[in-house]
Amino acid sequence: MIPAAFEYARASSVEEASKLLKTFGEDAKVLAGGHSLIPLMRLRLAQPKALVDINGIKDLDYIKEDGSKLRFGALTRHVTIENSAVVKQKLPILAEVASEIGDNQVRNMGTIGGVAAHADAAGDYPTIALMLDAEIVTNQRTIAAKDFFKDLFTTPLAADEIVTELVFPVANGPHKYIKFRRRLFDWAIVGAAAQKMNGGWRIGLTNVGTTPVRATAVEEALHKGAKPEEAAQHASDGLNPSGDLRASPEYKKHLARVLTKRAIEQAG
Ligand SMILES: Cc1cc2nc3c(=O)[nH]c(=O)nc-3n(C[C@H](O)[C@H](O)[C@H](O)COP(=O)(O)OP(=O)(O)OC[C@H]3O[C@@H](n4cnc5c(N)ncnc54)[C@H](O)[C@@H]3O)c2cc1C
Repeated sequence: MIPAAFEYARASSVEEASKLLKTFGEDAKVLAGGHSLIPLMRLRLAQPKALVDINGIKDLDYIKEDGSKLRFGALTRHVTIENSAVVKQKLPILAEVASEIGDNQVRNMGTIGGVAAHADAAGDYPTIALMLDAEIVTNQRTIAAKDFFKDLFTTPLAADEIVTELVFPVANGPHKYIKFRRRLFDWAIVGAAAQKMNGGWRIGLTNVGTTPVRATAVEEALHKGAKPEEAAQHASDGLNPSGDLRASPEYKKHLARVLTKRAIEQAG
């Protein structure tokens, strides 16, 4: 399929990108890795009037240690996160998540900022961002992950706002992310993440609602001394996933419980 006609401009700084977005108006879109936006355009599910390409903004591509935090420039590609020695050491769950995203082409082009801004319920980083209380930094403000993923494909980003950075806490204790899918390169039908941090557990779920979910009932049960199997029964508390071609709502809830149990047991 061929996308509808659009204008194209390449920015070399965040300021220039923001100005271009303002000039083009509401129907303009940022182009990062293009691995979500371009397929949508080819299917004509998205028909932006203009694309502002940010791939020329070299200072948005970095991973920096900052005390007890790790800062990821928005243009950091999945492959860079997957292979980063500092991420493997300080936030290994994110390197492991990156290594399981799509295929080589997707990992070579897709960016962490793009996944956040796209806010697909099946995106993997948003689950980790939510459960670890990460922050999303834009050219205008800093937004806590819990306030960023508002609904399916919906964030508080304004039309001329650009994600510049994601900030995660260092977390290098026991951890595991399990993604249930039918084929190796598929998106998660359901995903479950477990991370031990500051003496407690953080549990996150992917694709069981319109946003990532933090399974606080499981965290609390573990805190009170429940065994993984018992605690994981709470993974589906309050969930109301929609069914799709691959899984019914009941099956997704079942997967949430089973994968959460496995993630806790296999962590570390
Ligand atoms: C076959 C395939 C399999 C995939 N599997 C997975 C998977 O298992 N897990 C997963 O998480 N992802 C998966 N993806 C998606 C992939 O990770 C994409 O790269 C990602 O969703 C979007 O990142 P991008 O850099 O490509 O963004 P783009 O496609 O360029 O942009 C996506 C959206 O975000 C906006 N945007 C991008 N960057 C910014 C920014 N800095 N500031 C403001 N807005 C911005 C764009 O305007 C657009 O609306 C898959 C993709 C494909 C094609």
